[in-house]
Amino acid sequence: MVTFHVHEQSLIKNRITGYVVENMSDHKNHKLFIGGRWVDSASGETFSSDNPAKPRQILGVFQKGCKEDVDQAVEAAEKAFPDWSGTPAPRRGLVLLKAAQSLRKNKERLAREMTMEMGKVIQESRGDVQEAIDVTEYMAGEGRRLFGFTTPSELRKKLCFTMRMPVGICGLITPWNFPLAIPAQKIMAALICGNTVVFKPSSDTPLCATRLVEVLKKAGLPGGVLNMVTGSGEDVGMTIVKHEKVGAISFTGHKDTGAAILRVAGLKKVGLEMGGKNAIIVMDDADLDLAVNGVIWGGYGTTGQRCTAASRIVVHEKIKSKFEKMLVSRIRRLKLGDGLKPRTDVGPLINVAAQEKSAKYVEIGKKEGAKLLIGGESPKMEGFFFEPTLFTDCTIDMRIAQEEIFGPVVSLISAKSLYEAIEVTNSVEYGLSSAIYTRDVNKACEAIMRIKAGLTYINSSTVGAEVHLPFGGVKHTGTGTREGGIEGIEEFSETKTVYVDYSGQLQRAQIDMH
Ligand code: NAD
Repeated sequence: MVTFHVHEQSLIKNRITGYVVENMSDHKNHKLFIGGRWVDSASGETFSSDNPAKPRQILGVFQKGCKEDVDQAVEAAEKAFPDWSGTPAPRRGLVLLKAAQSLRKNKERLAREMTMEMGKVIQESRGDVQEAIDVTEYMAGEGRRLFGFTTPSELRKKLCFTMRMPVGICGLITPWNFPLAIPAQKIMAALICGNTVVFKPSSDTPLCATRLVEVLKKAGLPGGVLNMVTGSGEDVGMTIVKHEKVGAISFTGHKDTGAAILRVAGLKKVGLEMGGKNAIIVMDDADLDLAVNGVIWGGYGTTGQRCTAASRIVVHEKIKSKFEKMLVSRIRRLKLGDGLKPRTDVGPLINVAAQEKSAKYVEIGKKEGAKLLIGGESPKMEGFFFEPTLFTDCTIDMRIAQEEIFGPVVSLISAKSLYEAIEVTNSVEYGLSSAIYTRDVNKACEAIMRIKAGLTYINSSTVGAEVHLPFGGVKHTGTGTREGGIEGIEEFSETKTVYVDYSGQLQRAQIDMH
């Protein structure tokens, strides 16, 4: 049986607008990856992945996984665990290093496929692949570190140290907006720590996920160490989360999905990386040209579909009107189109639901009394496009200034002082990224100290994380875990504390010393 699953809605809409959808049987039928083999789903059902810039173009057909598939994937991961966790970490690192080389060799092909499947412009897709390469290389190097620490004992002839141990089987659930970078971030960290993995990618980007698994298989990863089950979040995702043999869940996605996962994960180790409503503060002493560049890149890059997107601009009232004019003039010049075309600045949204969500928030903003300066419509062209949109005269109680839209809709709010600007910045439930443009080092330092967010950029936009630094947020953005850098290892390992007593006699801590 054939289903359209996630894309069903978009294809119906396309039929309404007159698109003729390609025949699924003409396309490659991709498989699940279980126990080192490519296999069909026990469900017998499939779904397609299409191009958001040209929705009639199908990129491949994928398995709609089910509970039976997840059970088999967990079984394969369980079987593979003793050998993989017993493999010296530097040797595990060598497999990752080979995978990084293969990603590098295939960078352009992977980037082009990513643009076709997810819509982001080609330069950004290259950046996404590069981030996957960077994190894979970084985690390969972690194989020679995985540091614990040593500390003196309070007793004679006794050694104390800590070690990093794998958690066991890790369930990794990922979104579509960084189709290679986010899966690579989680998979490589989990693997280097000696875990085995059941991976469920987003149903909007199964092709990119399949490519990553192919690369790791080719690099020599033993069968069963990494298993991939494509399919819906409610079926495959939830089955992984509930599975009693899965020891850790690492999820990136929407906060409502994260909350649902947390409710059923029980006593598993759970890492949730969720949304943002990130602000850029622009002070009256800022380099305004630089700040405009930062707002354009942070607000409209990836069509606003980054967890770190700058969806709020908090501008000092003295420069508000000048800054608005500068921004509008730049936004007007942004060219929408297929991300594979070199002159395109802004690609499509991921699907019709995202297009409708942006349109819905434009209506909400207008009703709330915000002033629409530019944009606000879906242009009349093929694909899930939405105009770069800017509202001004927003206030912190408005929904467009509070809720994550995940589209190219930016809200501008004015503030009378640095402290008011910081208060506005902190007035949302999220706490992922933040930025301030100012030439005053004291103001920058006040912002660093007072903004409640996992990331603060000075004179730079809200986006641009590097893989050797921790990444994550506070408040409702996450559970406090971090990905990237040494902290990225913590999510996928347990600390073991070791005491070695070589005195040959009973020594009692807290008693024999006093
Ligand atoms: P989503 O929550 O809809 O889906 C994410 C993943 O969860 C997908 O694989 C999906 O199939 C799965 N899923 C859906 N329902 C599930 C369920 N009930 N149980 C288990 N799994 C389920 O999110 P999305 O639309 O793919 O991604 C956009 C969201 O991700 C935004 O909110 C964005 O801010 C967030 N995001 C956060 C970060 C970060 O690091 N903080 C990075 C990228 C994206």
